[in-house]
Amino acid sequence: MARPVRFNIHPRETDLPGHISMVGAPEGYTGDGFFTTRLSDVVGLARKNSIWPLPFATSCCGIEFMATMGAHYDLARFGSERVAFTPRQCDLLMVMGTIAKKMAPVLKQVYLQMAEPRWVLAMGACASSGGIFDTYSVLQGIDQIIPVDVYVPGCPPRPEAVLDGIMNVQKLVGKESIRRRNSERYRELMLSYGIQ
Ligand code: SF4
Repeated sequence: MARPVRFNIHPRETDLPGHISMVGAPEGYTGDGFFTTRLSDVVGLARKNSIWPLPFATSCCGIEFMATMGAHYDLARFGSERVAFTPRQCDLLMVMGTIAKKMAPVLKQVYLQMAEPRWVLAMGACASSGGIFDTYSVLQGIDQIIPVDVYVPGCPPRPEAVLDGIMNVQKLVGKESIRRRNSERYRELMLSYGIQ
């Protein structure tokens, strides 16, 4: 029996050949033949729409992330389809799953191998707080060893929640000053985690 065609009878404008979607320009001044804005905003616009995630998945939450990468939820829409497994090429560490205390130094080393600027998303109850595993062997939240930018609640979080977390990371990235990583406050934050 032929498969019913349901999704392409009334294509949306963005699905039509030749149509290109554009992100909005940052705030600035426009005139005849010129546009001025802040360098931070331009860098933020580029960074937030080309985040490369590193999935550090140890258990069930990782499966939910796989669904987020699939065609239905399609993380590629956010410019983040380039998932890599080398920390040196990534700028968003996504930690999903239970992190045993034995695994903690490995996770920290992965974080240290990422170049600045880097961001961290804790996906699910286990990565955020240890979840139901309130036990001697499980790290009670990855923020005990590395700084976290966005927490995604749930056990496991649905792909929509993961997308919401990514969009919150995008907001942070887009608004971050290019000087933040050189600031005294940031240095103090790193020192509080024993990172020089
Ligand atoms: S938060 Fe729940 S679904 Fe996610 S890794 Fe922990 S137990 Fe599994």
